[in-house]
Amino acid sequence: MTLTLPNIKIPRILLRDPDRLGGTVEGAFLCGDARFENGLLSAISPASGPCDTLLMPPLVEPHCHLDKCHTVDRLEDIGGDLTAAIEAQRADKINWTDADIRNRALRGIEEYTRAGTGLIRSHVDWGDEAEPPLSWQVLTELAADTPGLQLCSLTSAIQMADPAFAKTASDAIPDGHALGVFVFNQPDHNIGIEQAFQQAQRLNLPLDFHVDEGLAPDLRGLEKIADTAIATRHDGPILCGHAVSLASQPADDVRRIADKLARANITVAALPTTNLYLQGRTNGTPRQRGLTMLHELRRAGVRIVIGADNVRDAFCPVGRHDPLRTLELAVLAGHLDPPFDQWLPAITTDAAHALGQAPMYVDNTPISRLLHAKAGDLSTLISGAPLAPIPQE
Ligand SMILES: [Zn+2]
Repeated sequence: MTLTLPNIKIPRILLRDPDRLGGTVEGAFLCGDARFENGLLSAISPASGPCDTLLMPPLVEPHCHLDKCHTVDRLEDIGGDLTAAIEAQRADKINWTDADIRNRALRGIEEYTRAGTGLIRSHVDWGDEAEPPLSWQVLTELAADTPGLQLCSLTSAIQMADPAFAKTASDAIPDGHALGVFVFNQPDHNIGIEQAFQQAQRLNLPLDFHVDEGLAPDLRGLEKIADTAIATRHDGPILCGHAVSLASQPADDVRRIADKLARANITVAALPTTNLYLQGRTNGTPRQRGLTMLHELRRAGVRIVIGADNVRDAFCPVGRHDPLRTLELAVLAGHLDPPFDQWLPAITTDAAHALGQAPMYVDNTPISRLLHAKAGDLSTLISGAPLAPIPQE
């Protein structure tokens, strides 16, 4: 069965094999009439008119919190730094019944689907016990019915420093999901990091750290993670979210840590919404903003992805489950300049790689999963042109 979509523009960076398809190169794009055979892009012929329709693979959300989202309207006294947000969210857990967690998470999943997202990693707070909390049980049930939803335990480095806790919690993570740790200069956090690597290696689980989520220069968990990965020759996927304290460290230290991250094949997730809301807090206008050193890391060869993190909860009282909106904010927060094609992998192919999944390119993804937008350039797409599935009639 063949099908031709006329006047298509595809970001070349989102094609696995752009040279075999034909078509016309226009800057960052391959343009023309796109021919599909048996549901897959097979060739591009000269366009029959102006190319004004962008073709995209499904988007990827590398870091969110579907257990916490959409709680803001019932929280009291929010506003403050990371510690205040943790306390406010902890107090809300009295409301976390099966139905409450399920309904909020389903709302988040639906928002991601509407935005064209095909792969999502959601962290889930682990709670105080080694056994999984109710929210983990509810989210794993939802994940069983939601292809592309991957969960990650969010334990703390203190908990993971206890070998019995580390083993019990890790054993509860099914195949296809990930082991996560919150590292914030706690006592014994180095032991917690080492335990997490041991468990990930034992069970073949991807690793994901919330690390150094603060501007204090003595937050050094990120370097410990890179050192541990190198020392143990870890070859599974490792994603480090936040890494904000890099912004407070001298340039030589940033270079040294970036080199280690690149050697260890560690991906860093920049999380602009929550960092802009919680970091650099004063009683008035922020003078210092918090964002990882994404340009410097990338120049050193570190893969960068961009995530929504918190949406309408104690950590960020606004936000959207939509990777393109997150990229739009990152453009402003992180000074990402055009051409924007170089940042598309941060919410698509590189993000999938960071989650241990096969990247979805336009030319290896069935047309039933591809998306299109009326947009002749990426600024239009990132500024809000809606992405929609391709009609199959
Ligand atoms: Zn997070």
